[in-house]
Amino acid sequence: MLSLQRIESGYGESNVLRGVNLDVEPGQVVCLMGRNGVGKTTLMKTLMGLLKTRKGSIQWKGQELSTHDPAKRARSGIGYVPQGREIFPQLTVKENLLLGLETSAASVKTFPEDVLAMFPVLATMYGRQGGDLSGGQQQQLAFARALAARPGLLLLDEPTEGIQPSIVEDIRQVILQIKAKGEISILLVEQSIDFVRGAADYIYVMDKGAIALQGTPRELDMSQFEHHLSV
Ligand code: ADP
Repeated sequence: MLSLQRIESGYGESNVLRGVNLDVEPGQVVCLMGRNGVGKTTLMKTLMGLLKTRKGSIQWKGQELSTHDPAKRARSGIGYVPQGREIFPQLTVKENLLLGLETSAASVKTFPEDVLAMFPVLATMYGRQGGDLSGGQQQQLAFARALAARPGLLLLDEPTEGIQPSIVEDIRQVILQIKAKGEISILLVEQSIDFVRGAADYIYVMDKGAIALQGTPRELDMSQFEHHLSV
């Protein structure tokens, strides 16, 4: 349903991505791993249209996306939770969630009670300003806002980075709930093998702007796998 073919993109004169091929099938949780600086966030930004696709193709539900602007990609059902919890600190939790509806791909835009139910802590802080929330809670809010838009595919860029362990587990549980329902595919950038294990249907390991290794968690050769992840 999402298929990337030979994607090249980068900044200024330099190409970061050097021919990335990657697929996400309906309902799958696909993890993108790799050391810092190999191009994972660059791939997410390119997928969302925040960076230009220099070469290659991005097919989403049979449509070529690579020339569409970010808003059009969002409306076609791609949700994005960037690294660093980009929420609106002056708006309340409720208002932040309602903003998710603006980009909703769904025809009926009702308040996402079911999404709120997945994040009990947000329900208790419903009227508070986003800026009052802890880092981990802001990450959950960013995640909830993206879900409120009813995406078919969710791009999650290191949702657990710098977050306390109890909230990391809450986020993992939400990913498992989404996976169990099977309605939303997830492309997850994550560095922790422990987090990925049990959640991932398929893993891609990136190195120097290309996919160096891929397979199901069972198929992957651990020694090779660790070689590509260790610093
Ligand atoms: P990762 O997400 O795997 O840690 P990134 O995609 O963030 O890696 O970065 C890949 C490469 O692109 C790195 O060499 C990084 O220095 C470079 N890079 C990232 N963002 C920018 C930018 N805004 N301008 C120029 N180079 C960048």
